[in-house]
Amino acid sequence: MSNMTPEELVATANRLLYMEGLADTAGHASVRSPTDDNVVYINPFSVSRGEIRPKDVVKITLDNEPVDPDAPDPVAEAEIHTAVYRNRPEINAVLHTHPPIATLFSISGTDLVAAFTRGAIFDRPVPVYNRPDLLTTREEGELMMEAMGERDELLIKAHGAVVAGEDLKRAFTRTMYLEINAYHQLYASILGNANTLTPEEAERITETTWRQRSIDKVWNHYVWEASQNGYLPDEW
Ligand SMILES: [Zn+2]
Repeated sequence: MSNMTPEELVATANRLLYMEGLADTAGHASVRSPTDDNVVYINPFSVSRGEIRPKDVVKITLDNEPVDPDAPDPVAEAEIHTAVYRNRPEINAVLHTHPPIATLFSISGTDLVAAFTRGAIFDRPVPVYNRPDLLTTREEGELMMEAMGERDELLIKAHGAVVAGEDLKRAFTRTMYLEINAYHQLYASILGNANTLTPEEAERITETTWRQRSIDKVWNHYVWEASQNGYLPDEW
């Protein structure tokens, strides 16, 4: 991944999210420019998440202004991304998805918490931003950040999820774990008793699973799967 360009990272992440049913006509990925903290690489508005290519990726500033005025428009909710980058200098990648199961928790008001080993990183309830509207203004972005605070994951009520990471692999793995954990918590509760992880269990498991080599493994697995199944082309 370290040899992928920012444009390749954004295109690849979109295709993986599409493959996993977490993005379709909506949902998007961004990375902060490695050479300019004030610039973000992000989806254009109109290209399907399943067919996006590096050449489609656009650049905007943290004020949501296009770097190239002639470039296609970015996604309508670019503010979700730029709000995170403005407020969190350590964050270099943001994913906004519409995960079907995790989003249910934002509708029901049930706390989404560590319930499965791969969700041990959610040792505290995932915060919820209680405004389901399309998030397009700076004011809304700042309100969203009040709900998110220093956390790397957020649910937007009846809408979707926002996940931030120091790099794209981390944001992607966290996004996958959020939905996988939600799946297990949901079905355990249908069976009658969601015995979620204790804080001690969650901390212990996180120490052994949230490591660079594990995060690399997750990313590499999904890239491989996407290549095998035609979601990623052999060449851009
Ligand atoms: Zn959205």
